[in-house]
Amino acid sequence: MSGSEIQKQVQQIIDPVLERSLGDLKMIKQVQVEGNRATIDVELPTHAYLQRDALEKLIVEQARSAASDIENVEVNFAIETRGKKSGAKIGLRVKNVIAVGSGKGGVGKSTVAASLAFGLKHLGAKVGLLDADVYGPSIPHMAGVKGQPAVLEYTTSEGQQIHRIEPLDADGLKVMSIGFMIEEDQAVIWRGPMLHKILTQFLQQTEWGELDYLIIDMPPGTGDVSLTLSQMLGLAGAVVVCTPQQVALLDAVKAISMFNQVKIPVLGMVENMSGEIFGQGGVAKRAAELKVPFLGEIPIDASVRIKGDAGGIGSLYADDSPVRESLLKIVENVALEVVRNLQDEPEMPQLEIL
Ligand code: ADP
Repeated sequence: MSGSEIQKQVQQIIDPVLERSLGDLKMIKQVQVEGNRATIDVELPTHAYLQRDALEKLIVEQARSAASDIENVEVNFAIETRGKKSGAKIGLRVKNVIAVGSGKGGVGKSTVAASLAFGLKHLGAKVGLLDADVYGPSIPHMAGVKGQPAVLEYTTSEGQQIHRIEPLDADGLKVMSIGFMIEEDQAVIWRGPMLHKILTQFLQQTEWGELDYLIIDMPPGTGDVSLTLSQMLGLAGAVVVCTPQQVALLDAVKAISMFNQVKIPVLGMVENMSGEIFGQGGVAKRAAELKVPFLGEIPIDASVRIKGDAGGIGSLYADDSPVRESLLKIVENVALEVVRNLQDEPEMPQLEIL
């Protein structure tokens, strides 16, 4: 049987996690046949595709049963992050911008935003983390990055001078925060136009480079920042964090309706601090009622607070971390949800800057 015939067969497989055919998902890049051996090149749409083994098994089985003359099937995986070019409108080379929001403070929104960014980076993606929580910028502290970002100067081909801010580096994660600009104990009152201006600067004047994902830690509750973001970017979506209690849930519903109003797609809800104290399962139930995906839960665990306080959120992915599996599940679900939402959407044209 020829390579193209095997390709046709393999393309009919329904991807076990994305629930569409591999053909639809354009994941089979090439099939080569040499004697009784087939080599199949598969392109995964995100580094957070964690069910490779299951997919490989399906492909091998399908190829073998389609072609009786094939004895060996080799599957090669490559990864090309899919995205809707979230930043194209403003010249940002970022495939997917994901906002992390909550209805109120203290539910672990920054913890989830930082974990999501570190998790995607841990899996091999190019990631940035923007702390837009102007009321309580805690990302520098959690990620363990301090200092003043360098300002780079460029001259364009027309002789114009351009300044760009270099984000700080946390083990390969690019981090930008209002916390780098103000003293830790400085109280700042932000009004709408100022918020708009600082966010624009953070997005447009930061040297983000090419990113697969830019995670934004949003200020809790407010609509101003979401509106600005939705005007500037084609966001891949928003993740809403809440705790299992009823009160926090009501706030989360407000956060969802706010994202809906500014037309930012909601990727789903995360339950944080699940366990004996606050209960468990409340968020999954509410997510089902609201018909938004439930993205997973993080147990209440001292290690989360201790690592956050010590600037070591990234080490929650260490092999012996008690929350590693819960966090990876959330990273996987968020990234897959982004891919699902991309279905058949046209890409935005990339605007060139510099
Ligand atoms: P928010 O951004 O919503 O204000 P934070 O992420 O700053 O919330 O979290 C508030 C506090 O709760 C921090 O001290 C953080 O370390 C702690 N925390 C967050 N999630 C957990 C968890 N799952 N288990 C234990 N402590 C947590």
